Amino acid sequence: MEIKFYKEKLEEELKLLEKELKTVGRKNPDNPADWEAIADNQMNKGHNPDRDEISDNITEYETRSAILKDLEIRFNNVKDALTRIDAGKYGFCATCGKEIEKERLRANPAARNCIEHRTN
Ligand SMILES: [Zn+2]
Repeated sequence: MEIKFYKEKLEEELKLLEKELKTVGRKNPDNPADWEAIADNQMNKGHNPDRDEISDNITEYETRSAILKDLEIRFNNVKDALTRIDAGKYGFCATCGKEIEKERLRANPAARNCIEHRTN
């Protein structure tokens, strides 16, 4: 198995995800593994919002929270895959223990399951 190839891909993805996370959220100061969406009063828009923008902002915050949640899941999956590489357990299905198909890992290097047992 080309572990090095997947490791590089995963590290690259982790960096990209972290960058995206920073555009919608910030790390929880009490728990660096946890991310929280940026509140609207923390978004620097460069001008004072009028009434319409304030109601828009509520939806924007919800949108950011949803994006953040999705990114956080992907971020943790990638991080988890890198941990498995370091532990020498990468590339095996978490359900049946068989080697995960190459085409599946190529499509999703953070995959935890083989094609038969895929959940995502
Ligand atoms: Zn399996």
